[in-house]
Amino acid sequence: MAESNSTTTRRRFLRQSVAASGLLFVPGLIGCSPAGNAASGTDTAPASPPPAEGQSGPLGVAILGLGGYASGQIAPALQLTEHCKLRGLITGSPEKLPEWQRKYDIPDGNTYTYDTMDGIADNADIDVIYVITPTATHRDFVVQAANAGKHVWCEKPMAMTPEECQEMIDACARNGVRLAIGYRMMHEPNTRKLIELTKERAYGALTGAHAYAGYGGSPPATDYWRGQRDMGGGALYDMGVYSVNGLRYGTQMAPEAVVKATQTRQDHANAVDLTTEYTLRYPDGMTAEGKTSVVTNYNELHIEAEDGWYEMDPMQPYTGVTGETSDGKLLGPAVANQQSIQMDDDALAIMNGTEFIAPGTLGKKDIAVIRAIIESAESGREVAIEHQEG
Ligand code: NDP
Repeated sequence: MAESNSTTTRRRFLRQSVAASGLLFVPGLIGCSPAGNAASGTDTAPASPPPAEGQSGPLGVAILGLGGYASGQIAPALQLTEHCKLRGLITGSPEKLPEWQRKYDIPDGNTYTYDTMDGIADNADIDVIYVITPTATHRDFVVQAANAGKHVWCEKPMAMTPEECQEMIDACARNGVRLAIGYRMMHEPNTRKLIELTKERAYGALTGAHAYAGYGGSPPATDYWRGQRDMGGGALYDMGVYSVNGLRYGTQMAPEAVVKATQTRQDHANAVDLTTEYTLRYPDGMTAEGKTSVVTNYNELHIEAEDGWYEMDPMQPYTGVTGETSDGKLLGPAVANQQSIQMDDDALAIMNGTEFIAPGTLGKKDIAVIRAIIESAESGREVAIEHQEG
């Protein structure tokens, strides 16, 4: 597709603003914007000025992986954003394209398969590729997207191992593009209020916490990726990442060890965990309990402090996240669409050269916790958690 002058200019601006920040993926930086926080880490620092009028968004987004979350949540949410526009589709199932194209008015020239997607490098309509595929595929798709010179948003959980996460971070840095993780809760208005309570230590020093994230139902089918361990299925990767991430933003602390963990598993070669329970310890000695399941329903994040407590209950549905404090303050359900806020926040961070709320560096820290939980469950021992710096 031929580039118009304005799109060329806009694309060049977006690439230059990232490069100009010069601070991509610097470990050790602590978030300082209203959006940033000590627990989230950062991959860039505010540096470049906002784009001049006419060079600003909306950013063109291509969805990679047209499955349940893409069709049920992300594509509809994109229609509600101010700073993004759904402009491209990338799929391994081209038979899905006609319906998607009709529904979202996507021209043939903006559709790709996984085999043809390298050509997206020359498509000025697309600024961002949003990877929404099974967890074990995230690394390869993110690297491919970064190599095509596009900013990348990647669904949770970021990848299978911290090493894979680092490959994704490195690929984005090499290509001068940015990487955000689809942690929608960190953009949710009530959750952001809870984060502020912790940052302010509004109820005194923290003394404990728990995060439970699970859904009830039958065990995942073994012929579906959610029922396959090597694809990133199972409770801990799928739902447990909400508890791990929730304990991080809820405490604003990085855990130093998994004290103990237990998992119940299906009984076959590629079996996933159906339920996982774990205890984390922080450098100040505080402990926190996490629980996750794909066969039992629970959903809450609770923070205990010296002078009171506060919680989100439920902590992570698409709508209806509500909160309460020990002194009777209630956080009623926010009406805003979480995914729209998430994508607008991330688009603005790209355009303005500011920090992401949930950068790749943060996703990697949570995957390190998940790997330590698995190691603790398998060994029956306490396991130190690595990769929490920065
Ligand atoms: P689905 O199974 O519904 O869809 C996954 C899609 O990925 C498929 O339809 C397919 O799309 C594509 N795909 C690419 N490679 C493969 C492969 N090897 N095997 C199977 N599918 C493949 O999953 P979800 O949409 O529910 O989940 C996708 C991602 O989104 C996961 O990382 C999940 O954790 C995350 N998610 C996040 C949520 C949130 O609230 N933030 C909620 C739900 C999911 P195509 O046919 O187009 O190639």
